[in-house]
Amino acid sequence: MKIAVAGAGALGGRVGIQLHESGVDVTLIDRWEEHVNAINEKGMEVHTEDKVYQVPVKAKLLEDIDESYDLIIILTKAMYAEDMLQALYEKNSIHAETAILTMMNGLGHGDRLAKYVSKDRIYLAVTMWTAGLKGPGQIVLTGSGGIQIQRADGIASKMTEEINDIFNTANLNSIISRDVQHSIWAKATLNSVLNPLCSILDKRIGEFAAYGAVIEMITPIIEEIIEVAGARGVNLDFDASLEKIKAAFPDSAAGLHYPSMHQDLAKGVQTEVDYLNGKISEYGKEYGIKTPNNDMITHLIHQLEMKNH
Ligand code: NAD
Repeated sequence: MKIAVAGAGALGGRVGIQLHESGVDVTLIDRWEEHVNAINEKGMEVHTEDKVYQVPVKAKLLEDIDESYDLIIILTKAMYAEDMLQALYEKNSIHAETAILTMMNGLGHGDRLAKYVSKDRIYLAVTMWTAGLKGPGQIVLTGSGGIQIQRADGIASKMTEEINDIFNTANLNSIISRDVQHSIWAKATLNSVLNPLCSILDKRIGEFAAYGAVIEMITPIIEEIIEVAGARGVNLDFDASLEKIKAAFPDSAAGLHYPSMHQDLAKGVQTEVDYLNGKISEYGKEYGIKTPNNDMITHLIHQLEMKNH
């Protein structure tokens, strides 16, 4: 199977090199010229806790793409996914059978991708793998993770099994989910609480958690998300959602880290807030559910984004 990872930053880099190392024909596609050139000149430089090594994975600039793929894994930041797909579509990289898999954080990706291919060719994935970028052509990999996948229409298929097998051969610890939407929403709940609040407050997750009334503070945000999720047919449990967030608090978990949104604001790039709290507000309006906390968080992050420009 010919695979492309479209959006080959930190996480795309991780998935791409693991697929390459397992013998898959994989191409990393990106618009970032310096990054693509560095990968092609000396391979992707991978930094782990105990070693640095090069992986000679193929990389191409989006404008140089002249082939089609059987599976395209979208790992741009959420706001650039449609641009990427539109460009790949115009370059005939999406053939009649091409499957598109999204592993991006946030909500609503299946519906957005359905503008390009039908839902029986869209795969939704959620991952607990992490990765960082050190510079052009350099990624930092720590810890381990896993992937859950399901076809967007919820129907089992041979292709789902093939993708799952390919991911497992690449040691990406994949399972086929029977309800990936639940996992996507559960992760989006965590991200919609910790990402914006630590960014607004300029705090590491552990510093944020040290506030005595932190549970009282985050409860209304979670409650809004649960109500909106319910209207969309996803049944999130409050206690489980809270436990998932609390599990990130200790230093041994994510306590010492700033969430990725904080890093995006520090770098002066746009955040994914519109696919987290912003999407909750948007769905809330659609279903007549008031979401004042998520509305305000979205505005605050947009204000912080403006500071960067
Ligand atoms: P990333 O910022 O590392 O890469 C995304 C895109 O930005 C790539 O196309 C990359 O080339 C480009 N980019 C990054 N730095 C650039 C620079 N200095 N100049 C020009 N272009 C640059 O994003 P990511 O962390 O890989 O995230 C991709 C998706 O995966 C997002 O939806 C994210 O929420 C999700 N995700 C990430 C992680 C993680 O640990 N990184 C974990 C789970 C989910």
